[in-house]
Amino acid sequence: MQVRINHVVISVSTGDITAWKGDIIVNASNSGLYGGGGVDGAIHRAGGPQIAAECALIRQKQGGVMPGEAAFTTAGRLPNLGIIHTVGPIWKGGGAGEETTLARCYISSLDLACARGARSIAFPNISTGVYNFPKKLACETALSTIADYVQSTGPDKLPLETITFICFEPDNARLYEETLKTYI
Ligand code: ADP
Repeated sequence: MQVRINHVVISVSTGDITAWKGDIIVNASNSGLYGGGGVDGAIHRAGGPQIAAECALIRQKQGGVMPGEAAFTTAGRLPNLGIIHTVGPIWKGGGAGEETTLARCYISSLDLACARGARSIAFPNISTGVYNFPKKLACETALSTIADYVQSTGPDKLPLETITFICFEPDNARLYEETLKTYI
């Protein structure tokens, strides 16, 4: 399933993000950038200790990453150009600015990817695991944020050509397919 906005192809696929071969993989990390469970654990395991070593340097330099922000490391053993570690909001009922913070995760990650000249990027479904963000709202927030970003950034300023959402759970895959269709 894919949709084109300006020159960018936005698509949804299923599976393990560590098997994806494009330029940038986004990681749903934590503020300390300590490899944890879920997608974070999978990326650290697949990429090897180089990623944790670079995360430690970022911790030393700036004390970690705030929710909504993002940091870049290389991809260790993985074939990608790099990993962008972003920190999603923990869902606390919706009154703590969670939706805005989640949108900022996507924007910060895209800004960093563009600064690196990336042509392709893959996102997991940030915050929809242990951080408990409602899946439908997370999906709508992700897609509307990405669509706005692509529409409002001139093609000359956007090296990205493909943006892929990798859904690990069938529930999320269904939601993304249904919601992406509304952008055709
Ligand atoms: P968060 O703390 O942001 O909720 P999680 O890792 O717990 O992060 O979950 C985020 C999303 O990543 C969930 O939808 C989960 O199903 C998904 N996920 C877990 N492992 C992988 C993987 N290997 N590849 C892609 N997505 C994954």
